[in-house]
Amino acid sequence: MTNGSAAQAPDREYQEFLNEGRFVIQKCGACGAYQFAPRVLCTSCGSDALAWQDASGQGVVYAATTICQKPERGGDYSYVLVELDEGVRMISTVLDRPPLDVAVGLPVVAEIEAGDPARVVFRGVEGAA
Ligand SMILES: [Zn+2]
Repeated sequence: MTNGSAAQAPDREYQEFLNEGRFVIQKCGACGAYQFAPRVLCTSCGSDALAWQDASGQGVVYAATTICQKPERGGDYSYVLVELDEGVRMISTVLDRPPLDVAVGLPVVAEIEAGDPARVVFRGVEGAA
């Protein structure tokens, strides 16, 4: 792997997009694969022809667990692996349901939670599960 100065750290670029209110993932211009987390090279074919593309924001919970925290520290929350429609998976949380109600297969939609840094969080799709 090269470490050329021309390539900006992709995770930093990703965060800058998020801070501007855009949730993007990488798409390879050579083989068409999507990938997340951001990397310098395509994990499928090794190409560096990666472009940012707005994520659909649609996905399903692929795995879920509950992180237990004292109420004064924010209380329990879900810790999920979401598979986006693009086929990539990312770790996040589902905000609008009790952690124990966040089950594998739950359809979710992404939103950007402002903050420093901003982050991608999910909500359960209305009427599901
Ligand atoms: Zn590729």
